[in-house]
Amino acid sequence: MLAKLFDAAGGVCAYCDCDTYLVTREAEPDALRRFGIPDGLPGAIRALRYREASREHVVRSADGGKDDIGNLTLACTFCNTARGEATPEHHRAAMLLLIAAELHPNHQAEASAMLDRRFRPALRSIRSAPLVHLAGAA
Ligand SMILES: [Zn+2]
Repeated sequence: MLAKLFDAAGGVCAYCDCDTYLVTREAEPDALRRFGIPDGLPGAIRALRYREASREHVVRSADGGKDDIGNLTLACTFCNTARGEATPEHHRAAMLLLIAAELHPNHQAEASAMLDRRFRPALRSIRSAPLVHLAGAA
């Protein structure tokens, strides 16, 4: 199912448009090279984890969303785990704001272990903003 979603999306995350990687198809060293993440850099493996392709429920399971292809899309692991209770539209807008603020780890020139501490407060403040204020970013 994940491979099917990956192929349908061209490997691109539905929220942040980053290229993801499919663990079952690409070796870790190859993926690190493809994303330009220097092997051995502190945080390199975490940066790669954020790039992993994952199944994303458009309507969340908690809200009754089904576990079938019609309700599934592809998301990078970062966007998937950061979504929380946000709607897909709000979450995409939030991710695009993180990119604009250079706080989205999959849109960084360099992988950094410090990012975790930097993006969380930004994400919280974006979440609390009314969606209407985010519309221009989508
Ligand atoms: Zn993403």
